[in-house]
Amino acid sequence: MSLTSLSISELRRKFRSRETSPIEALEALEARIGQVEPVVHGYLSRDYAAARTLAEKADISLPLGGVPIAIKDVINVNGEPCSCGSKMLDGYRATYDATVIKMLRAAGAIPFGRCNMDEFAMGSSTENSAFGRSCNPWDPSRVPGGSSGGSAAVVAANEAFAALGSDTGGSIRQPAALCGCVGLKPTYGRVSRFGLVAFASSLDQIGPFTKTVEDAALVLNAISGRDPLDSTSLEEPVPDYAAQLGHDLKGVKLGMPREYFISGIDPQVDAAVRAAIRHYESLGAEIVEVSLPNTEHAVGVYYIIATAEASANLARFDGVRYGSRAGAGNILEMYGQTRGQGFGPEVKRRIILGTYVLSSGYYDAFYLRAQKVRTLIRGDFTRAFEKVDAIICPTTPEPAFKAGDRSDDPLKMYLADIFTIACNLAGTCGMSLPCGFADVDGKKLPVGLQLIGQPFQESRLLQIAHAYEQSTEWHKAAAPL
Ligand code: GLN
Repeated sequence: MSLTSLSISELRRKFRSRETSPIEALEALEARIGQVEPVVHGYLSRDYAAARTLAEKADISLPLGGVPIAIKDVINVNGEPCSCGSKMLDGYRATYDATVIKMLRAAGAIPFGRCNMDEFAMGSSTENSAFGRSCNPWDPSRVPGGSSGGSAAVVAANEAFAALGSDTGGSIRQPAALCGCVGLKPTYGRVSRFGLVAFASSLDQIGPFTKTVEDAALVLNAISGRDPLDSTSLEEPVPDYAAQLGHDLKGVKLGMPREYFISGIDPQVDAAVRAAIRHYESLGAEIVEVSLPNTEHAVGVYYIIATAEASANLARFDGVRYGSRAGAGNILEMYGQTRGQGFGPEVKRRIILGTYVLSSGYYDAFYLRAQKVRTLIRGDFTRAFEKVDAIICPTTPEPAFKAGDRSDDPLKMYLADIFTIACNLAGTCGMSLPCGFADVDGKKLPVGLQLIGQPFQESRLLQIAHAYEQSTEWHKAAAPL
């Protein structure tokens, strides 16, 4: 087995037994990247020299000692580019470390490489990146999902041992599902957002992409906790997620939401998820039907709240405070040209939409009403969690779609997140893990199983995911590159 296909936990063991070293691991990654990156295009940049310096002095006794971790290009790493997939920030270099990066460093990890993404995390395919799309390692003619598509693709292609992404409406879980890796969105407030370039501040969370559930637990261990620099991060205790794995499923109740098994869902996805549910039953879990009736409004509510917040957050990219300045003339012309040339079409669409729903006369009809429905959606989850430990459903309605298929139809693209968005609106934790394959045009495409957990019950969620993973083989399949 090649070094790059190892999980973090396997790699750690080999570091500690001196079978290999952080430098060798980095060199193996470099070679693998050289081989497959021309096809995958998951990275925007990589700084081997900086990573090598860190690898040379890595302390392998630390939990992630010497492990390179790829970072979505929306999280600040001191001295590294941080373009957010946008021309607006092309050439910008971060001047400080995000809190998650400080925490990864404290755990011994090596932030390595910047992952491609949809511009400012708006999209479901990485086709909205200003620097070219990333490809799905299982079929390069298809998308890896988005917006953290680069992060998912490099993990699935064994070009990274793990990666960080961000999830506002599904951007970790959806690409993890389409690329066949594990992706976890923590509870809102579990992980600091300081140093994450904001898209929709009431929804954004940073989380890991990994090859295994245990690795997700290891990375979550490192990045969780209260941060005085992010007032929305909470004081909740951080358990040792990795140490708590390994429980059986006796007495565990999983809720199957009626509204998530709808017509229109791809039959092969439906079949794989139903098979996974039966597998859970055979492991001793009890399956209970639950209802999340307001989910049908989730996409609509999300595209009001997320765009409203984005319109405010992106106001800072004006060529004065942030962003490459364009044009001459008076200040209004300069603003107009900077924003007109710096932002791509999807970002402009969202800023216009968000400004509209917040404008006088429309605020009550759109923004305020959306906030009320958001409360109803959260209530659905609270009621469901009175009966069950976690919710089980598909991550996406379909396997990876062809590049170009939806790029001209924003509404069709928005529906790629129909099953992931409600979890962000409710603020709770969720993850996707591999649960099978769909055969499409002679290619195997991964299918993701979504588990949604109670707020701050990531430990339970990971235990439930781990029990399934350990009794199946899906996570061992490698993309045919
Ligand atoms: N695809 C969704 C959007 O375009 C979610 C993005 C995300 O989670 N960052 O808004």
